[in-house]
Amino acid sequence: MKIIMLGAPGAGKGTQAKMISEKYDIPHISTGDIFRANIKNGTELGKKAKSYMDQGLLVPDELVVDLVVDRVQQDDCTKGYILDGFPRTIPQAEALDAALGEDKIDYAIDIEVPDSNIVERMGGRRACVGCGATYHIVYNPTKEEGKCDKCGEALILRDDDKPETVQKRLDVYHEQTQPLIDHYTKAGSLVEFDGTLDINVVFENIIKVLG
Ligand code: ADP
Ligand code: ADP
Ligand code: ZN
Repeated sequence: MKIIMLGAPGAGKGTQAKMISEKYDIPHISTGDIFRANIKNGTELGKKAKSYMDQGLLVPDELVVDLVVDRVQQDDCTKGYILDGFPRTIPQAEALDAALGEDKIDYAIDIEVPDSNIVERMGGRRACVGCGATYHIVYNPTKEEGKCDKCGEALILRDDDKPETVQKRLDVYHEQTQPLIDHYTKAGSLVEFDGTLDINVVFENIIKVLG
């Protein structure tokens, strides 16, 4: 089963992708996590990506497309995978379509959350520096404050989750990423979910569709 996650920054893509990945035992591939790991490790890719990410802009297509196309061709992806944060532009979607050929994406999961909810959500988001798990101080707190339930590492507030950067990311989303909804509707793979519901309810609704 090949899945992509669509939705605004903070819609809950990562949260749901992790749960789907565990239930169906397919890898969760997050381009944001890949970039953050590269930044942490001081790689060339990380250095290039950081300046865009800090401004709330998308990293240029040419820095992300080959990376994802290579990743989905690895052995652990033969049963499927879940792409979280890719594609984010029409050229990225077209490059993915071309790489997959007849072997198309099964579901493009669109999680709908109005912009007015997003800024508040992002302010409360906490991300694990170890495993990339995300929490929310109100909606999805950890058992022990500041410490990841899954791996025990420290939690941080991402630099790009500050309100002024979040607004920029939302603008970028509407301009560059939202057109993908049309793209995957035409391809017949779009499924939409109300992302304002409780995390577990959103998950149950997704599972009803995926089977
Ligand atoms: P979010 O939680 O907002 O969905 P991500 O962790 O997916 O954020 O991405 C963080 C940042 O990484 C984005 O704002 C963007 O700068 C960069 N990024 C991630 N994926 C892509 C992509 N497919 N194309 C371009 N930039 C990307
Ligand atoms: P994305 O990957 O789309 O940027 P995340 O999965 O990181 O989004 O979720 C953004 C923030 O909102 C996190 O703090 C997360 O714990 C919280 N969150 C996710 N889903 C919900 C939900 N259904 N209701 C309330 N908060 C949520
Ligand atoms: Zn962790």
